[in-house]
Amino acid sequence: MNTLQLKNLKCWLEIPEKSDFPVYNLPYGIGYFEDGSHSAVSRIGDYIINLSLLFQSGLLRADGLVLKHFASEFLNDFIDLPREVHQSVRRRLIELLTDKHAGLYDLDKEIKDNIIVSHHRVQLHLPIKPGDYTDFYSSKEHAANVGTMFRGPENALMPNWLHMPIAYHGRASSIVVSDTHLHRPWGQILPPGADNPIFSPSKQLDFELEMAFVTRRGKPLGQPIKVDEAEEYIFGMVIFNDWSARDIQKWEYQPLGPFLGKNFGSTISPWIVTLDALEPFRCEGPQPEKELLPYLKSSGEKTFDIQLEVDIIPSDCQPTTVCRSNFKYLYWNMSQQLAHHTVNGCNIQAGDIMASGTISGTAADSFGSMLELSWKGTKPIKLSDGTERIFLLDGDTVIMRAFCQKNDLYLGFGQCKSTILPAINY
Ligand code: CA
Repeated sequence: MNTLQLKNLKCWLEIPEKSDFPVYNLPYGIGYFEDGSHSAVSRIGDYIINLSLLFQSGLLRADGLVLKHFASEFLNDFIDLPREVHQSVRRRLIELLTDKHAGLYDLDKEIKDNIIVSHHRVQLHLPIKPGDYTDFYSSKEHAANVGTMFRGPENALMPNWLHMPIAYHGRASSIVVSDTHLHRPWGQILPPGADNPIFSPSKQLDFELEMAFVTRRGKPLGQPIKVDEAEEYIFGMVIFNDWSARDIQKWEYQPLGPFLGKNFGSTISPWIVTLDALEPFRCEGPQPEKELLPYLKSSGEKTFDIQLEVDIIPSDCQPTTVCRSNFKYLYWNMSQQLAHHTVNGCNIQAGDIMASGTISGTAADSFGSMLELSWKGTKPIKLSDGTERIFLLDGDTVIMRAFCQKNDLYLGFGQCKSTILPAINY
């Protein structure tokens, strides 16, 4: 559907103006209902759609689609279906929600009221069980900022950075859904000037503003995914907060990279927005600054214009927006990331998570972490309650938002929210 057709789609449910969830979004999540049951769900305006019950009503059918794809605890089995099935489910959902004669509008009220439920009555859980999680490092501005702080401006970027999307393998088990609160982590920290580390709660707890994509099933082990076909293997995207304990990270990261400074938790937004929904917001990314090896060359509009914001809310206070960035700033796009990830034959599975790395822009208020916003602690960030932050304090809530706007089209990802709890007693 072109932009004009999307704009003219009229849902027969009332959708608040500038809702994150117009009828051309239709993201996927996992919802738990008041009776204790759970189902794959989608969202339209302020309503949740119970896809299991919709399937059971007979109104939502597609080749190969069976009840377990919606009734499972996670979306992995649904994501593992062929792309054509996802596209036909999307087309049918749009039809059911815009055409009063398609069957849903006229459904028996009691059945319909169970299929379409106020979002206040549904608790959202982790939408997928990620088998693997990879964290890229694809923002040139972020890599250069961190490099400048730790190695000086002459060596800001490592020699390999402009030649390949750098990444490390993260921890899948500690990926949690928005509204899961996390304790400040303990770990080894080397105090400035000391020879030996101390054991302490992190004093430099940070967020990292990232987006992540959720993969479809890839190719068998040994077979790379080519850059031009990579998007066929991407199901959708979420907001991703890659919490980081900078002091623990700094002491542990050489020679093998991030470990306990990162794996105590990463938070994702509950809705997976599909690439089909993001289609109108395609754009070009930055041009490569070095000649790329052929397997990484990509052309055309291979990224998306997704505006990003981060708020910090101290306990019982008003939010302060501390960062405004954009997914399109990333130097390496998702196709290049996936092509690089699999170029050696590494296989990916349905429901793997690939995070972008911290997304910073060039402006000082577009930096995607406290480390950069406070420039390693030298420029404290002022909050609206009058307090200042260098890193996060106990009780601080971090909210990340992502949304796309193009002419009259608007959609959002909802939010990715978590509060920092005090360190546990040791
Ligand atoms: Ca990261």
